[in-house]
Formats: sequence, C-alpha cells, structure tokens
Amino acid sequence: MNVHEQDVARVTAALEGAARPVAIGNARVIDADGMRDDSWVVSSGQGVIVATGTGQREFAQACDQVGLDAREAIDARGRILTPGYVDIHAHGAWGASFDDGADGIDVARAGHAVHGTTRQVLSLITNPLDVMCANIRTVRAKMDERPDILGCHLEGPFLAVGRKGAHDPECLTNPEPHIVEAMLEAADGCIRQVTIAPELPHGIEAIRTLAAAGVVPAVGHCDADYGMAKAGFDAGAGILTHMFNAMNGLHHREPGPIPAAVENPHVTIELINDGFHVQDPMVRLGFGFAPHRTAFVTDAMAATGCPDGAYKLGALDVNVVDGHARLVSNGAIAGSTLLLEVAVARAVNELGISPVAAVEAATLTAARAFGFDKPNAVTGAPIGLIAKGFAADFNLIDPADWTVEHVWCAGRALK
Ligand SMILES: [Zn+2]
Ligand SMILES: [Zn+2]
Repeated sequence: MNVHEQDVARVTAALEGAARPVAIGNARVIDADGMRDDSWVVSSGQGVIVATGTGQREFAQACDQVGLDAREAIDARGRILTPGYVDIHAHGAWGASFDDGADGIDVARAGHAVHGTTRQVLSLITNPLDVMCANIRTVRAKMDERPDILGCHLEGPFLAVGRKGAHDPECLTNPEPHIVEAMLEAADGCIRQVTIAPELPHGIEAIRTLAAAGVVPAVGHCDADYGMAKAGFDAGAGILTHMFNAMNGLHHREPGPIPAAVENPHVTIELINDGFHVQDPMVRLGFGFAPHRTAFVTDAMAATGCPDGAYKLGALDVNVVDGHARLVSNGAIAGSTLLLEVAVARAVNELGISPVAAVEAATLTAARAFGFDKPNAVTGAPIGLIAKGFAADFNLIDPADWTVEHVWCAGRALK
C-alpha cells in the first residue's frame, strides 16, 4: 500500500469534484505583476477569480456576489498568496510515474499538488512507440476528468544518442514523418511539448510539423551547435529543454544552443533549480539571461517525496542517494526529486532572486509557453496571475520558509 494512499484519494476526489467559491483576505499577494500587501481575492463557483483588491467594503461586495459572507472568509494573516505553481516538465512523484497508467498519474499528481503545483504538463519518458502512444492516450483521457492536467510532454524518442541522459537508447529514433504522425494521431490535441535534437535527420521538418499542429517543439538532449539550434528555434521550436543539462555548454568560440534560445524572444527556457543539475552560481547566471522567459521546472521522477532507495525511470533502474537520482548502469543523472515549492524557496532564500521573479518563473512564464496566460481551450480561464478573470489557482505560503500550506486548483481545495 502506498503510504500516501489517503492523500491521493482526497486530492483526486477534489480534482474530479466541483469548484466552490473561495474568499481569502489579509494576504500579501505575490505574482508576476508585483507584491500587494493587505490584499484579498474572491473566486466564483466556476473556479474563476471575480475580483481582487484591498478595500474592505469591496471585499464584502465581492463575497456577496459569489454567495459568501466576508466574515467567513479565510484570514491569511499576512501570509503570501501566489498563483498555483505550473510545472511543464516532470515525470512523477510518490513512487509513481506519469507513464504508469491512470492510477500512476493520480499518485504522482497528488505528490506535486500538495506542494502547490496546481497544474502540470506530464512528461512521458522514451519508450517503444506503441507504449508511448498508449501513455499519450491515457493522459488525454485524464484531461476530461479534471482541470489540473495540461497535457503531455514527450521527452523522446527523438533525442541524440550521445545526449540521451537517462533515456533508453534502444528506443531512440529519428523523427521520421510517420512516427510524428502516429503520435499526433494518438494525442487528439493533448501533446503540449516534444523535445527534439534538431540535428537528427528530419529534425527541422518534425519541428515544423509539430508547430503547425499546435505543439510546442523543444530543443534539447542534443549535440546541436549554435547554428543548428537557431535553425530549430527559427523553424518553430518554442522551448529549450532544461538549459545546461544534456546539451553543449557555453563556450566563447562554441556558443552552443543556449545563446540561440536567449536571442529568440519567443523561446521559453527551462531551468532545474535544485543546485545539483545546475549549481547555484550557474542558476543565478542563467536566470538573468532572459528575463520573464525562464521557467523553473522540476524534471522530478518517481522518487520525489520518497525516501532514498531503488526506483525505475521507464525501464531503467535508478538509485537515489541523498535525494540525487542516478542510473544504476552508468551513473547518469536520472531526473530530480525537486518540487516547485522547493525551487521557489531556494531561489528566494538561497540565491537572492526577488520573490516576484521567483514566483513568475513558477507560474506565468510556464503558463505563457503554451498560451495559457490567455483564455484557451485547455484551462478555459487563463492561469498564472492573481487577477480578475484568471483561474482560482491559489497557494497560501508561510513567509518564513516558503512552505506551501494551502492549495486550490480551479476553486477545488487540495490542501
Ligand atoms: Zn531530460
Ligand atoms: Zn525529463
């Protein structure tokens, strides 16, 4: 039995259930638009923010509008209120992976949700094509049942063998048109992101095909130099997969893919802020490369929220020591055990990044990578800000250490 069984059942039921009106007063709101003390927010029974502000009379009126009494509102007592965190690259938590079928998704999502990740793009690891297509269909079906799943990210099979990281080399392949088509066919619109090494045969062509289909191609797990990466972004790639990891680094005579991403204003840059995938001085440096375009991602695997020990990443064996996951076979880093809650806390408390910029990197920037900062077909109301018309995704946070204490997704209380 999973030690988290009761939490998983509670979170899953809440997400599959109805939204309720929410009123929170006396909060320090922090989002990409800045910091506002003595603030309140009120959301409707449809899970959408109807008003936010500072005056008490307006607070009472907004509560009235959604059928609540302001005296029964949640008193934040000065705690931090942020939009729910959005993780666009992670593989699992609490012993389960997003590749483990519908039940695995419930478990892993709950493991992130109780730490404030209200919405998530589910990363699927490299597997045989038929397995990947089955996993894609499972994600698609889940999206109809609950608001928190934004779709899937295919990390593979179109990766460079020399930059495979913890992906099974047996399953890597070139992005031939018939394979791309088979994945799009299985997806029924649920693929958000596909990581591609653009230098592979058909790489640029696949980037064009995916972008035309509404997917955001990502450059990563590649040997691409600057020119090759630039060609990928010019062809429509909109994300750099975990900057610094599984790609050529920065060199003054071999610039590599990082400057190509920085120079293109349409590209969102993923960054794993765990101090291990990327050491702190490089997190600080890299975070400054592209203001408002760097998204914290976790790349979290099944061991997230679990004790050290033996785990699986796809078909490969992983050992976790001191929270650091490595392949048993060759010692390659095999995903993280990071939570966005920890990434934001580290940014503020250890790296000196401003709270507004740290929250932005875990909310609006991630949402914008897929157009979710505007009304859209997946989330309905936009996500990523505490503002009228945005989804009722809230985290109430202890200002002392940035621990997430209470969580709502689309007006559903998760913690
Ligand atoms: Zn990766
Ligand atoms: Zn990954």
